[in-house]
Amino acid sequence: MSISSRVYTARARLIESGIRPGEAGLDAEVLARHLLGWDRATYFTERHRDVDRRFDARYEALVARRAQREPLAHLTGQREFWGLEFRVTPDVLIPRPETEFLIETVLTLRPDRSKSGTLVDVGTGSGCIAVALAIELPAMTVIATDTSQAALEVARANATRHGVAEHIDWRHGSLLAGFSGPVDLIVSNPPYVSALAIQHLEPEIRDHEPHLALNGGSDGAVPLRALVAEAGVALVDDGLLVVEFGCNQETAFRQIIAMSGLSDPKVVRDLQGLPRIGVAAYRDSR
Ligand code: GLN
Repeated sequence: MSISSRVYTARARLIESGIRPGEAGLDAEVLARHLLGWDRATYFTERHRDVDRRFDARYEALVARRAQREPLAHLTGQREFWGLEFRVTPDVLIPRPETEFLIETVLTLRPDRSKSGTLVDVGTGSGCIAVALAIELPAMTVIATDTSQAALEVARANATRHGVAEHIDWRHGSLLAGFSGPVDLIVSNPPYVSALAIQHLEPEIRDHEPHLALNGGSDGAVPLRALVAEAGVALVDDGLLVVEFGCNQETAFRQIIAMSGLSDPKVVRDLQGLPRIGVAAYRDSR
């Protein structure tokens, strides 16, 4: 049997397990390429080769795990974010494409890349935000926090891989991890799924990703509220908070900012028009 026929059979099996056809086809191919060490171009020229037994056994094991709805990124151990490969383990949230929108928003707000200052990434997880911003804003001092020591280790490995480990100050703790500022920019993708809604997520997320990174409490906005309160203390005059939130949380975000020491809330929509990123500023009223 050729590799492409083997991939096609795997695709059918993944569809049967409830994965959408487009995703199933891509996942079946990515798992084969992962084992073979092939890029897409190589796959297209070599896929008619026969499978050998060793490949077949290993592929079978990976496809079986995917059919049990383990996330693809846990099987390959990586996920691309902002054009960079990130190591991923079950200790960290898998980087999402929508979070790239947070990076874009920050770069729009700080167009001068040679400007110095301090940036804190709260709840860094895989480190994807901290690493991307350390690369894009090389003049800034970057601090990354997480309550999970295991996540910080993954994040540090990712920073090392991309040559910015020395550039980032890692701190174990919740929110700003005791850092009181002054901070020019606070960024975060906090947990924002309500405790109830977690039960209705896809099994890949619900059963395999860390609830610590997803669970936003009763209304999904508990961590955001706490973060905004700390930001009001730590930000410098004109300092900015840039956060990702759930697409149904625009009103909650605006209310939280209205009741806080921050002002000028702005909501940035993604390409589908969904509210995704919230921006607010601290203005010293003295
Ligand atoms: N975007 C994630 C999801 O789709 C949630 C991430 C978060 O809570 N920060 O489930």
